Amino acid sequence: MLKFIYPFLFVIFISCGDQKPKNEVTEIEKPTISAFETFKIEFIEALWKANPVWASYEGFHKYDSVLTIPNETNRKANLQFSEDWLSRLNSFEIDSLESLDLIDYRLIENYLKSIPFYQNELKAWQWNPSDYNLGGAFFQVINFKENKLEDRLKAISFKLDGVKAYYQAAQANINNPTRVHTELAISQLEGSKSIFSETLLDSLKKAKLATDFSTDFLGKLEAAIAAIDQYKTFLQAEILPDLAENDQRFRIGKELFEKKFQYEIQSGFSAEEIFKIAVSEKEILHDRMYQLAGMLWEKYFGEQEPPGNTLGKIKMVIDEVSKNHVQRDSFVVAIKNQIPALEKFVIEKDLITLDPSKPLIVRETPKYMRGVAGASISAPGPYDKAAETFYNVTPLDDYTDEEAESYLREYNNYTLQILNIHEAIPGHYTQLIYSNESPSIIKSILGNGAMVEGWAVYTEKMMLENEYGEDMELGLMYYKWNLRTVCNTILDYGVHVLNYSEEDAMQLLQKEAFQEVSEAKGKWKRARLSQVQLCSYFTGYHEIRTLRDELQELKGENFNLKSFHETFLSYGSAPVKHIRHLMLDQAKNHKPVS
Ligand code: ZN
Ligand code: ZN
Repeated sequence: MLKFIYPFLFVIFISCGDQKPKNEVTEIEKPTISAFETFKIEFIEALWKANPVWASYEGFHKYDSVLTIPNETNRKANLQFSEDWLSRLNSFEIDSLESLDLIDYRLIENYLKSIPFYQNELKAWQWNPSDYNLGGAFFQVINFKENKLEDRLKAISFKLDGVKAYYQAAQANINNPTRVHTELAISQLEGSKSIFSETLLDSLKKAKLATDFSTDFLGKLEAAIAAIDQYKTFLQAEILPDLAENDQRFRIGKELFEKKFQYEIQSGFSAEEIFKIAVSEKEILHDRMYQLAGMLWEKYFGEQEPPGNTLGKIKMVIDEVSKNHVQRDSFVVAIKNQIPALEKFVIEKDLITLDPSKPLIVRETPKYMRGVAGASISAPGPYDKAAETFYNVTPLDDYTDEEAESYLREYNNYTLQILNIHEAIPGHYTQLIYSNESPSIIKSILGNGAMVEGWAVYTEKMMLENEYGEDMELGLMYYKWNLRTVCNTILDYGVHVLNYSEEDAMQLLQKEAFQEVSEAKGKWKRARLSQVQLCSYFTGYHEIRTLRDELQELKGENFNLKSFHETFLSYGSAPVKHIRHLMLDQAKNHKPVS
């Protein structure tokens, strides 16, 4: 059966068809479009029309010239959008949908139901002044090189018309903001101004446009910069002085945290349940680390007497093991060299099928993408025709010797392997290839972050369970790495629900998770600025692990790890609870009769 292919993929489809003899092409049946497929196409079209900036970020550029003003009229329209599309969605019989469509249905439903929650209950549009930053919205338009520069500038000219009204509405929206978000807004506004005063100005100079247009455009740029300045001054002069130095309003509290957790993570567990599991997991990890530290003690410290306290002893061994790292100039090549070994291991142990036609391309992070040093997977967006996936590794060129040393100790020879498992094989990169097998624009734009991160975290543990690496050092460093994920969850819930102070946070991150001061401080800031997101890694991981246990229990001797992995990934980036439902159903129905 030929599955329907979305219009934007038709280009690729047709160009593939061109390679074949003509008569073969005509033999291909016209795909029948189901009512639900039609619904999805119309929904996405409406979604982009209502959210032009989001559309540009996803690579859909039809509405580049539009800027939505964050005022009451548009908030009402947003609620209406939710209501209208929910009622259209509800006209479909859930039972009649195939499993992949069923997940799309659930993702759309969750998104639409979340709209009134974000708008009327969480209300970040009132208390988070950093919500109003137009730098990215304009950058996404000017940076889309497939459109002619002149056309991009014409679209931007229209978009610029709305900037003044946009910031007037933003100013009117601010009500009881938090200090930490106000400070963030002020610092980000300064940065995003450079998009207008430099990036767009430079583009205008390069473009071949009539003098009238350019003069007009320059005037609009100036007005936009003035509007940003006005908003920034408002925050600095009228808002900030009234906010207490130790303002506590960043805590969203238990009720909102639980709700946001359900909309964002879409977990089968509550946030409180996940928090409790994370706390007990932390103790288990400490026990294992203490055992390993004991076994490694003599190798690194000889006859020296270990300190009396558990965490102190673990920390000393971690510090010694971390000295085993590559030189700063071989960081990129070290990562590159490790990938074939991971592939070989996965194949030998028969853990999951890797597609040999899609080798992973490791490259130095392009200059324009470099922010903080590190490693990341850059995957093409749903509308991106250059469908190549890269493993970006940032060389340590910009680091002082001291910074490089600290970074290399963090990403020592052991942790580097865990990082590669997580980012590349069989983590993020492998998951992406599987999810691209059944392309769904819904899963691509509304996909579940907890499943994606959970999978990468799950594979770290799974590789070690299958005896990847023999060194006890690798085990110790894995536990330290995993502890970070566990403590992210504890911190997130602790800050927003249990009123953790900065001291509580530092105790957790530095003492119990062995983090450096700079990392711990950064995390404390991130936990106050965001809510729920820090829980996603551990929640996804725990749900996948639990699902595997359930299936193992159900299938007994017939459980096969490789087929578990492949079936699990075949549903795409969907919430684990929905995949769980489908996989458990399937296992129960196909249970061999004994
Ligand atoms: Zn060193
Ligand atoms: Zn990740």
